[in-house]
Amino acid sequence: MSEPLIDGWGREIKSVRVSVTDRCNFRCRYCMPAEGLEWLPQPEVLSFEELARVVRLLAEMGVDEVRLTGGEPLVRRELPTLVGMLAEIPGVDDLSLTTNGILLDRLSAPLVEAGLRRINVSLDSLSHVRFAEITRRDALDRVLAGLEEAERYPELRPIKVNCVAIRGFTEAEVPALAELARRKPYVVRFIEFMPLDADEAWRGDEVLSGGEIRALIEERWPLVEVPAKPSSTARRFRFEDGAGEVGFVNPVSEPFCSSCDRIRLTADGQLRTCLFSRREWDLKEPLRAGASDDDLRALIRWAVRHKELKHRINERGFVRASRSMSQIGG
Ligand code: SAM
Repeated sequence: MSEPLIDGWGREIKSVRVSVTDRCNFRCRYCMPAEGLEWLPQPEVLSFEELARVVRLLAEMGVDEVRLTGGEPLVRRELPTLVGMLAEIPGVDDLSLTTNGILLDRLSAPLVEAGLRRINVSLDSLSHVRFAEITRRDALDRVLAGLEEAERYPELRPIKVNCVAIRGFTEAEVPALAELARRKPYVVRFIEFMPLDADEAWRGDEVLSGGEIRALIEERWPLVEVPAKPSSTARRFRFEDGAGEVGFVNPVSEPFCSSCDRIRLTADGQLRTCLFSRREWDLKEPLRAGASDDDLRALIRWAVRHKELKHRINERGFVRASRSMSQIGG
């Protein structure tokens, strides 16, 4: 174990989001354009060996939480093989995956067998018409089937269901999603809409805040706050009558940058120290040019030293990130 990874503001980095592909089989309006986003050429994408090497180095520096994401991570071929490689790395205590769920019916079993222990499934609507409207794909039944399949594996807990909260759309979904949290062993989490959409159509007044959604839920079911880890992005609440839990991830209305312990690795091997970074640190080139572990560690430490203090979404002159969410890895 080497020295922990500490950024220039004194925050220790414990968590990495690893994007395994920029490709996706959905076209969610708040994330991707309807068409026209160019995929990375295949040789640009890090191999499993390269990804595992970076994760091993990070784990040696104290990063214990690894979340695989994308694009849609389940469209990356042989993903369970990568999960198996990462699950074996000493120090990786929490290995999870964020997915749109459409391939979970086929892949839950091999993923669990490979060592996956947690999943987050994105689900913005329980109505077929509105699901198709927001994702631009008619795939609700397959996502629900994927969730049912994941539920069969007690190893995969908690199952988190993530919903991006957009004013004018999500209000109508809140009762059904809250009921889902009461009926199923799922923690339903509402995530405030952030300016990371490829269409660059985000407007501040479209952010439906966690506070507003909480009030909508409490019209029917009172909630009680559950203490969360200081580094947690979500405020957690259980229903007062004990049936289920919901969470609110409020990066816009209640930024949690001061306790941010995350970095991100894009599918093409760029280290990002904030979702809203304008600058990336290239690991792919040194990885492929024969850099030693020490060289890579030094580069990672240097990047982390320059981690942004905070995002500036709510400030005048906010400048959008250099890439959109599906290209970064949410
Ligand atoms: N395809 C996978 C999925 O659907 O979960 C993983 C990648 S997706 C980019 C990761 C998460 O980012 C999803 O929960 C998605 O809803 C969220 N997301 C995408 N664009 C967003 C935005 N503009 N604001 C907030 N969350 C967003």
